[in-house]
Amino acid sequence: MNWQSDLNVNETVFVPSLEHWYEYHKRDLPWRHTRDPYSIWLSEVILQQTRVAQGKPYYERFLKTYPTVQDMARADERELLRLWQGLGYYSRARNLHQTARYVTDELNGKFPDTYHDLLKMKGIGVYTAAAVASFAFGERVPVVDGNVYRVLARVFGINEDITTTGAKKTFAALATRLIQQANDPATYNQAIMEFGAIQCTPVAPDCLLCPVQQQCVAYLTGQQHRLPVKAKKAPVRERYFQYLIFRNGDKVAMRERTDRDIWQNLYDFCLIETDEPKAMLRDLPLPNLVNELVMQGVFATMPTEATQLLSHQRIKATFYEIDLPDKLADQLPMGLQWYSTGEAGQLPKPVLITNYLEKSLG
Ligand code: SF4
Repeated sequence: MNWQSDLNVNETVFVPSLEHWYEYHKRDLPWRHTRDPYSIWLSEVILQQTRVAQGKPYYERFLKTYPTVQDMARADERELLRLWQGLGYYSRARNLHQTARYVTDELNGKFPDTYHDLLKMKGIGVYTAAAVASFAFGERVPVVDGNVYRVLARVFGINEDITTTGAKKTFAALATRLIQQANDPATYNQAIMEFGAIQCTPVAPDCLLCPVQQQCVAYLTGQQHRLPVKAKKAPVRERYFQYLIFRNGDKVAMRERTDRDIWQNLYDFCLIETDEPKAMLRDLPLPNLVNELVMQGVFATMPTEATQLLSHQRIKATFYEIDLPDKLADQLPMGLQWYSTGEAGQLPKPVLITNYLEKSLG
């Protein structure tokens, strides 16, 4: 196919300008020194959760603990979730583990080496498949992430709402045309993401020193802050978690969260969720068995509060710490079990719970 004939002037100038810019401005990041699909896949999954500076230590810790996909396949899920702790979206960590097992058990430890085969893997979407296919195997497929949407929307003056299917098709078609001109698809994909991350940033793009300034529709028409167009997010849902922390000597009662909800397979305490904040424990709708324990226990401290903001939810938690006498210690309801403070520290937990344990139980 003759791609060149479809291109306008902006598209022809854009790719070489970007490649040239990247040569001089790229950051030295560990995952850019490898063509190993496992390491690249790992870095991409981590970087979907966090910024480069915060993601780098996670990447290094994961590779140190699980140097190969086989090592990750054999990992204990609790340990893997604990390494992931702080990144959120724990289903991605579980998908990571399942995919590692699939590659090891079903594919003899060999990652699929094409975009289409990568897409068949659990937890690998179009972005990650394109990243692994181009960075590890040099396939000419474009990555389209938030950085790429922003850069393309501004440079080419695309007004479509990037959350719509129609816009996604427009951007994918443009990105596919552009990558045909790249000298090396892996370098070009790195370049456009890097350009979005450090030059054409969301709030303060560095337009004055920009190599594509004279081709950039947003710059030439003063629309940098209007593009890309993105529909407003759904409002954040407020949730109120009332945690009863039963203690007996140096033991604390915790349970695994098994419901299909946030923090699945992580551990927390006895939880009563309410529709609104509750100031007094006596106002809480406690199940009978829990109420009995509360009545016979002794409040160890004043209640404390903490908040954790997730992508679509704000969790406002109140913690009530209650010491139980030995005679009640074997009557734990709601799937709770006793853990020593040391054991509790080793369980995979949401950040909210980790912070509480660190602050309150030492
Ligand atoms: S001129 Fe400004 S808005 Fe346009 S690509 Fe460069 S940094 Fe981004």
